[in-house]
Amino acid sequence: MMRGAFDDAPLTTLFPLLTPAEAASLHRAAGTVDAARARRTAADWEWALEHAAFPGTPLGTPIVLGLDVIEHAEGGDQLEFLLQVVWTDRGHLAVDTAVNVACWCETDHATHDVDALRLVIDETSLSDAFRAGAERLTGWLADPHDADHWRAKAGLPPRRMS
Ligand SMILES: [Zn+2]
Repeated sequence: MMRGAFDDAPLTTLFPLLTPAEAASLHRAAGTVDAARARRTAADWEWALEHAAFPGTPLGTPIVLGLDVIEHAEGGDQLEFLLQVVWTDRGHLAVDTAVNVACWCETDHATHDVDALRLVIDETSLSDAFRAGAERLTGWLADPHDADHWRAKAGLPPRRMS
């Protein structure tokens, strides 16, 4: 994975079919996400040139381009916001957005997705899906950056204090 600011991502290499208008739309959407982040740092976007073409159906979900905002809190707690362009196992691009939190259940599940949205690029264009994903993510980023807030919404147990 390469890391950098969104402007550093080689969009036309990652997405050879992208039109200039769609590339401009991706930049605008990424700009709204960058602006919505609490502590903006320039090098949080990641991309994988080896995933520009569909890599087949390996284990896991190949990420083409994405942003992963991880907020750690004391005591091993974690809150994570994701916006990623990925390949589905059927060879379609999709835009995934998710919020996940560290697990404090009796049984350790590591993390839980408390909200998630996948838009498959099939009838919709990449730029429309990316904009919708970015809107969802900026909405989540406006909510409290408190993992217990998200666990409560999902009916998960709160962080245990030691
Ligand atoms: Zn759990």
